[in-house]
Amino acid sequence: MLSKTRISDPELYGLVCEELDRQEHNIEMIASESTAAVELMELSGCVFTSKTTEGYPGARFQAGSQVADKMEQLGNARARALYGAEHANLQPYSGSTANYGVYAAVLEPGDRVLGMRLDHGGHLTHGGSANFMSKFYDFIPYGLNRETELIDYEELERLAHERRPKLIVAGGSAYPRLIDYGRIAGIARSAGALLMVDMAHIAGLVAAKVIPSPVPHADFVTSSTTKTLCGPRGGMILCRAEHAKALDRGVFPGSLSSIHLNIMAAKVWMFQYAASDAFRATMEQVVRNSRALVGELTRHGFRVIGGGSDNHIVLVDLRSKKITGKLFQDALEYVGITVNKNMIPFDAEKPSVTSGVRIGTTAVSQRGLKEPEIVRIAELMARVADAPEDRAVLDACRADARVLIADFPLYPAECAP
Ligand SMILES: *Cc1c(COP(=O)(O)O)cnc(C)c1O
Repeated sequence: MLSKTRISDPELYGLVCEELDRQEHNIEMIASESTAAVELMELSGCVFTSKTTEGYPGARFQAGSQVADKMEQLGNARARALYGAEHANLQPYSGSTANYGVYAAVLEPGDRVLGMRLDHGGHLTHGGSANFMSKFYDFIPYGLNRETELIDYEELERLAHERRPKLIVAGGSAYPRLIDYGRIAGIARSAGALLMVDMAHIAGLVAAKVIPSPVPHADFVTSSTTKTLCGPRGGMILCRAEHAKALDRGVFPGSLSSIHLNIMAAKVWMFQYAASDAFRATMEQVVRNSRALVGELTRHGFRVIGGGSDNHIVLVDLRSKKITGKLFQDALEYVGITVNKNMIPFDAEKPSVTSGVRIGTTAVSQRGLKEPEIVRIAELMARVADAPEDRAVLDACRADARVLIADFPLYPAECAP
């Protein structure tokens, strides 16, 4: 790959090589990341890049879309089969755009929406004040119970009945436990609201049936395709047949224009891969690694939010270690373990500092790391937390991290990009 770029733009080629080297030698534990398969990279740059198409199969705005029609139909069929969904739309450019598509489909300006608070693990597009959606819709936040650090379903129910939202949004970016979709669907039904579940983080675990699916419970299910689903950087939406026409209009022309057919091609491949035994085995390991990480970190005196993890996310409260999320993130980055600082529920620190880090097990599981390696990673994390500014300790940890990851190549040698 990149044999032409190497000659026409050596400077840029050098940066790509540098990034490959960074990924190869670091232990990537950003919870929203996965490692792209070589096929995804091939397809993301394939000839579909050149084709402009708007609309839907059989009703395009541009001629020459017959092959694109076949591809989109194949992808929709695979998505429906994978998730047992009645309707699929693969056009959204990202998880964020997928959410905008649903909002465009069902909301009018000023309509009320219940979404999980950003600082309790929700997402910017669920009503975060910095996101422009919050100017158009009346977002009401719900949050976690302070004791259990689980979704406060009683508060959610009370808010739904008192404030009568048109839409309830469930799902988040930093929620390590299972969500009771049945319960939220019941609340939505009794309050006359539609339910949208944003499964951006957990779509791969759901596809592999490692955790319960929101699809039977929700009117709409949105997702990013990049996170546990291990696909290209894109989005998708599933919905009930009764909402199909409205949804498709909300996506095009409601919230986007021409399709990124090259990325769609990569999504089509991703759905086939996500239905395989190999993918299921990886997703099972993701959860085992996450649980192992919870156990090991707890043993080393860290506290995890929500009492554990049922998915790929471990949210760590660093206050027992007397360090901030920012300091820990930076020290781990130096060591070669990539995580991100993250607000914990009821955090007293600023978002730029935080009292926590969010750790994810998807990319390391794809690389073949299992429980014994998780034990070693947790030990490194404990050594770093105890001396985050001690250069000698960090240098020793960095050497150990390099040795650990060297046994797990990012890509098999025969197809290294
Ligand atoms: C990551 C994420 C998104 C946004 O996905 P992008 O593909 O980055 O736009 C939306 N919702 C949730 C819950 C997410 O975690």
